[in-house]
Amino acid sequence: MRRIIILLWGALVILLGAAVAAQERIDQDVYWKIRREGTANSKILETLHVLTDVYGPRLTGSPNLKAAGEWAIEQMHAWGLKEGRLEPWDFGHPGWTNERLTAHIVSPVSDVLVAEVLAWTPGTNGVVRAKALQMTLPERPMTRDVLTAHLESLKDAVRGKIVLVGVPRQVLVTFSTPALRSDDAAVLARLNAPPAAPQPRRQREQQQEEQRESRPLTNRQIQEQLNQFLVASGALVRINDAGRDHGQIRAFSNATYDVEKAPPTVVMRNEDYGRIWRLLADRRDVELEFDIVNRTHSEGRTSYNVIAEIPGSDKADEVVMLGGHLDSWHAGTGATDNAIGCAVMMEVARILTAIGVEPRRTIRVALWSGEEQGLLGSQAYIKEHFGMAEEPKPAFAGFAGYFNIDMGTGRARGMTVFGPPAAGTILSEALAPFKDLGILGATTTRSRRRGGSDWTSFNEAGLPGIGVFQDPIQYRAYTWHTNLDTYERVVEDDVKRSAISIAGAVYHLAMREEPLPRFTGDDMPQGPRPGEQGADD
Ligand SMILES: [Zn+2]
Repeated sequence: MRRIIILLWGALVILLGAAVAAQERIDQDVYWKIRREGTANSKILETLHVLTDVYGPRLTGSPNLKAAGEWAIEQMHAWGLKEGRLEPWDFGHPGWTNERLTAHIVSPVSDVLVAEVLAWTPGTNGVVRAKALQMTLPERPMTRDVLTAHLESLKDAVRGKIVLVGVPRQVLVTFSTPALRSDDAAVLARLNAPPAAPQPRRQREQQQEEQRESRPLTNRQIQEQLNQFLVASGALVRINDAGRDHGQIRAFSNATYDVEKAPPTVVMRNEDYGRIWRLLADRRDVELEFDIVNRTHSEGRTSYNVIAEIPGSDKADEVVMLGGHLDSWHAGTGATDNAIGCAVMMEVARILTAIGVEPRRTIRVALWSGEEQGLLGSQAYIKEHFGMAEEPKPAFAGFAGYFNIDMGTGRARGMTVFGPPAAGTILSEALAPFKDLGILGATTTRSRRRGGSDWTSFNEAGLPGIGVFQDPIQYRAYTWHTNLDTYERVVEDDVKRSAISIAGAVYHLAMREEPLPRFTGDDMPQGPRPGEQGADD
């Protein structure tokens, strides 16, 4: 009897201790299994290899992206996930791929040039060899007429030439090394900062109005007019300066998505661009040679999000989602942006399936497309399935959180959830057992402004998006959107840690009695107006 009393007393003390430390009841047994599975049997690098080496790059609308999605579904089915499917949405532009690019300087010296093709531009239709010409644009032209007058004066000069557009950027040697890890103090400061108050609408409107009135032409307007001019005047190739150090090249796209509206265009590494510019400045004749083969794919007008699920049980109508974007830019193989995010989230689902959990809520993986063109895939999905707070569909009510990862290879250090303070507290407690892996908690935001990555599409709709933030490891400095974004840049230990901590949090939200607290009714921050949007990553 006495022994029993002592045992009971001991149990009570343990329970009380737990109640003081945390309100959330964490299933330590499952958390331990998640750790063991994610550490010993990780498939992250295998997934990454296929998504990058086999299917990269994965530009929105390209056959590669669709094939990568089909493979991901097959793979997730093999792991035991259900309901794998490609969900179509209307991209509205043909797909585009670059199949060949050779670039050489042939006079006054012979050498190979390093360049990447700008997406949604045409090929050269065979090898072209011609003289190089440097051209500059008026600084901040205020009207189309100013720009037209300038371009007209160059009309005869550009015909039959390969045109370098703009003075090379001076990229000086930097003596500060980019940060690899965030120290704990910086992460905690971010987690403990009060949520940024959304900028009052009137102030924001006023700012936009002021900008509009005295604004010169936008870069997009300038580029469209310049491209039109180069095509009409018979320029053979357009060259842009990459403007970055150590041969890094970021090649994005012709904003019209129409190959008829641009000349063949490459982005050349700053070092080669500068060399040619300096030779031309000496008044030497420079001859260049290009061979560019690009292809457009009309079927790419329809793009796809990849969806797969672990079915729920007694709360199957409620959904916890997790994902990242599968589409990439085309200069590298899109490893850190964002094959690794997809590989981590697929791993989360694999871990949970492998350890045999039976979640109460449905756990749904989503790998988005069209992110790089403005979070298009996630927006289409939300519109189709959930609607907005102001105009909800039936499934809006049962939505219990969307985890997003999209900041490279760095380990997860914290999360930001769109929701009331209680949502942040619950997530922090769900993550607390993983502090040793580097994740230090969660904070909240009230912002419904779209930008950054796909979790903000959920926030914009008034749904609880959860953005994972990570250690910076080379991401902004080297790999983000560049030709250096490849398999080699992923740190295995970091991504394994991310998958384990996210798996714990996903599982916890799928199991707790009440769904993650959300903004409702009067508490809901004001939504954006039509046409209002942020920048995308
Ligand atoms: Zn990204």
